[in-house]
Amino acid sequence: ARQFSRPLNQLATQINTMLSAIAGAERAFEILSETKESDGDSADELAAVKGEIEFSHVSFAYGDKGDTLTDLTFRIKPGQTVALVGPTGAGKSTVVQLLTRFYEPNGGHIRIDGRDIRTIRRQSLRRHMGFVLQDTVLFDATVRDNIRYGRLEATDGEVERAAELANAHSFIAKLPEGYDTFIREGGSGISQGQKQLLAIARAVLADPSILILDEATSSIDTVTEIKIQQALSRLMKNRTSVVVAHRLSTIRQADLIVVLERGKIAEQGSHESLMERQGVYWELHRSKDG
Ligand code: ADP
Repeated sequence: ARQFSRPLNQLATQINTMLSAIAGAERAFEILSETKESDGDSADELAAVKGEIEFSHVSFAYGDKGDTLTDLTFRIKPGQTVALVGPTGAGKSTVVQLLTRFYEPNGGHIRIDGRDIRTIRRQSLRRHMGFVLQDTVLFDATVRDNIRYGRLEATDGEVERAAELANAHSFIAKLPEGYDTFIREGGSGISQGQKQLLAIARAVLADPSILILDEATSSIDTVTEIKIQQALSRLMKNRTSVVVAHRLSTIRQADLIVVLERGKIAEQGSHESLMERQGVYWELHRSKDG
């Protein structure tokens, strides 16, 4: 497997770039390179994770611009899904950036399984997380190795099994050389939706305790869309998931919907309870339904 190490290193860099994109591009990169993300002496490795996530009175500001997030409090149990909902700029991605420790809260606490994430090493924390983001980064290597990035020591059989669970197998099988097809230049010749299926296959292989999902807003053909939806619900089942959500179907199924408005929680609850309230979620929902 050693021959993979160079492209995999490349991908590691790209993954960091991708995380930086979700974490606010240059600034995150700066932090990475400046401080090598020093964790402080007290930071530990995180062993097994059940996946309870708690935000307790979390506030945050980018620099001195004023609060981007104000007094966020919510909690999900292991295996549950929280959908972050709200208009562009409301602070959904910032929540993810704090959870992944690209930034630290200015006030309050974020806990995983009851433990403040400030006391957990960043790399250790992120090792328990899987990411399916809007723009999947593919690197110059075979389809097989692109999936294997999810877990480097996985066998070919495990890679293919993951692809099957991710509904990616059938399109891969139709590629000129199947799993050995070489992907060039970020995946030319592979559709946006197929890239997502590969990202899901990676996450299936990695089997993380916590899934971070940034739902695509761009349009994907209906057949692929259905495959993505099905693979995602399989991936999210019994796994703590934090979703920057755009699709109504995902939002409806979430255990907890957190509606953000200008960095504050306007409302939170299940779909049913929020519909009953007839507040902002209900309004949002009506306008989305057309
Ligand atoms: P959403 O994901 O809901 O669209 P974001 O969390 O991306 O919202 O953004 C919340 C607010 O924080 C916006 O006003 C945005 O301009 C600002 N913001 C996001 N990232 C940065 C950053 N790296 N530096 C400064 N401001 C940022």
